[in-house]
Amino acid sequence: MKLHLYALKKNFEFKVKKSAKNIWCTVCVDDKCKWRLRATKLVNSNMFEVRKFFGEHTCSLDVRHKDHRQASPWLIGHVIRRKFEGDDVNYKPRSIVKDMSLSYGVHMSYAKAWRCREHALAYIRGTPESSFQKLPSFLYMMEQKNPGTVTHLQMDNEGRFKYCFMALGVSIMGFKTYIRPVICVDGTFLTTRCGGTLLCAMGQDANKQIYPIAFSVVDSENNDSWLYFLLRLKEAIGEVENLVFVSDRHTSIASALTKFFPDSHLIHTQFTHNLIR
Ligand SMILES: [Zn+2]
Repeated sequence: MKLHLYALKKNFEFKVKKSAKNIWCTVCVDDKCKWRLRATKLVNSNMFEVRKFFGEHTCSLDVRHKDHRQASPWLIGHVIRRKFEGDDVNYKPRSIVKDMSLSYGVHMSYAKAWRCREHALAYIRGTPESSFQKLPSFLYMMEQKNPGTVTHLQMDNEGRFKYCFMALGVSIMGFKTYIRPVICVDGTFLTTRCGGTLLCAMGQDANKQIYPIAFSVVDSENNDSWLYFLLRLKEAIGEVENLVFVSDRHTSIASALTKFFPDSHLIHTQFTHNLIR
């Protein structure tokens, strides 16, 4: 990584001539150039030591390549990861293209900048696979630290993620104590790499603000996913008198409601999408 960064800063490109367990030799991309670096692995250590280094280029460095071979997404991901360590998740590929051009004179395509961003986010947040592994302990801790919280995680037969559900204890308590018994339910697409759909149940408080009650992440809006969500919602809020549901015209919602909330009333509207957003 050090050498990749060095090459980016000095505006040259190298290629690996030999790469083995104990040795790593690189030369300039220009075959006639004398620039070279040779590193060998130290005994009893994973560190490599530079043993030979000819740092002068005998080639012309004036020729700027359209795309720098050392500007690979994994490296740029490391360079820009700090941008995401604050709250700035809005560092967009277009800005990466611009910044790389200004800082390193490297011109990259939008698609490549997008891959760099994916790498940077993976370094910070971990991969979707590693997040999935943390999900059971996350949900467990949510219940431990937030009394009354109801969570649920459903896997398929092969141990892969299927559904999860979460309703915070304070949300349930507030809904049953202060909020009028009207629940708006709807789903919206998740636009991350793994896709899926977010199902929500929410009410409205006395200030006419959205009051979140429960969430689920499911594969898509279908009979099974709505059945799952409304069953878990029933377990979370229990029996509520004069309960009214507001939903779009998704038939899965109506059939699941008759099953788990047979005494509730259902109002259809086209505008739940605006409410949920
Ligand atoms: Zn050279």
